[in-house]
Amino acid sequence: MSTEHFGVVNTPVYRASTILYRDLATLESGDVPYFYGRRGTPSSRSLEEAITAIEGGVRTVVCSSGLNAIALAILSVCGAGDHLLVVDSCYAPTRITCDRTLAHYGIETTYYDPCTGGGIEALLRSNTKAVFCESPGSLTFEVQDVPAIAKVAHARGASVLLDNTWATPLYFDAFAHGADLSIQAATKYVGGHADVMIGYVCANRGHAARLAQTHDHLGIYASGDDCFLALRGLRTMPVRLKRHGETALVLARWLQHRPEVSRVLYPALEEDPGHGVWKRDFTGATGLFGVVLKPSPHKALAAFFDTLRLFGMGFSWGGYESLIVPSKLHRTVSKFEAEGPLIRIHAGLEDVDDLIADLEQGFGAMKAAQ
Ligand SMILES: *Cc1c(COP(=O)(O)O)cnc(C)c1O
Repeated sequence: MSTEHFGVVNTPVYRASTILYRDLATLESGDVPYFYGRRGTPSSRSLEEAITAIEGGVRTVVCSSGLNAIALAILSVCGAGDHLLVVDSCYAPTRITCDRTLAHYGIETTYYDPCTGGGIEALLRSNTKAVFCESPGSLTFEVQDVPAIAKVAHARGASVLLDNTWATPLYFDAFAHGADLSIQAATKYVGGHADVMIGYVCANRGHAARLAQTHDHLGIYASGDDCFLALRGLRTMPVRLKRHGETALVLARWLQHRPEVSRVLYPALEEDPGHGVWKRDFTGATGLFGVVLKPSPHKALAAFFDTLRLFGMGFSWGGYESLIVPSKLHRTVSKFEAEGPLIRIHAGLEDVDDLIADLEQGFGAMKAAQ
C-alpha cells in the first residue's frame, strides 16, 4: 500500500499546466518527475501505470478519446509512402480517419475481410507497415484470427495494431496473441459510466519509444479529471464486465428464440461462426452484440424502438445503462448479408428480467404496428 498523497487511497485529481521548479539548478538539470501538464501528471501517470500492468505491455499513453488513440497508434508506425491494412468491419470513424486524413498525408489503406486470418499474406506489400485489427468487428462481430494474422505480418516486418475495446485486456490478451499496439476506447468499459471520453494505446517493447515520442510530438493529452474517472472505472471493471457478459448471454439466447429475430451475432453463442476462435483466444464475452431481425416494415421497427423504456437509444456503449441502436454498415470489400434490419444491443447492469420484459413489450408494439 502506498502512503503517497498523505495516504489518500486514490491518486487525487491533478489539474496542471505550469509545474514550478524548486531552483535554477533543478530547472537546468531537468531532473524532475513532472515538468509540464501536457506531458504528464500523477493523475495521468497513475492511470498509465495501472493499464500497462493490466495489459502486460511496456508503455501506455492516454489520449483524449478512443478515436484519438487509433489515429495515434497508426501515426506511430506509418508515414508517407507506407501502406496500411485495415479490417473491413472496423469502427466506422477509423475508416474515415484512414480514407480522408491519413490518405491526405500519403498513407494508403487497403481493407481486408475480417475472416481472412493468415490469408492476409496475399495483401501484404513491400511497403505494408501495419495491419489494423478489431475483433470482434464493430456491428457485425466477426472474430478475427489475430495470431494467424500476426504470424504473417511479423514475418514481413509489419506491425499489428489491435482495437481491443470489445474484449478489453481482461478478456483478450493482445500482446500474447501477437499485437504490438493494444488500443482501447476507454470511454467504453474502462470509464463504464457514460461520463468520460478517453482512450489509450499500450505498446510492447519494440513499439514503446516511437509511441511515446509521437504522443508527445502531437501534444496528445487527457485531463486529470478524465484520468481520475478512468482509473476509478478500472477498479470495478472485472465485476462490471462479468455482469455485462452474463446479461448479454441471457438476452442473446432469449432473442435467438424470438419469432422477430433472424439471428444473433455474439461469439459466446455456440452457433456463432466465430465461436471456435473466440473460445480459443478469449477468456470472456462482454455486453455488446448484434441482432439481425426478420424483414419488417420501418414503422414496425420504429414502434419497437420507441416503445422501449429501459433500453436507451444512443451511440457509444460500455456504461451501466442498456442501449439499442439500428446499425448502418460501411464495409467495402467483404459482404454481410442481413435478412432484415441489423441492430446493436448493449446489455447494461439492470436486472435481466426487467430487460427481457422491456424487449417483450417492444416486440408487442412492433407486432401491433405491422
Ligand atoms: C467507441 C469506439 C471507438 C472510439 O472511441 P471514442 O472514445 O468514442 O472516440 C473506437 N473503437 C471502437 C471499437 C469503439 O466502439
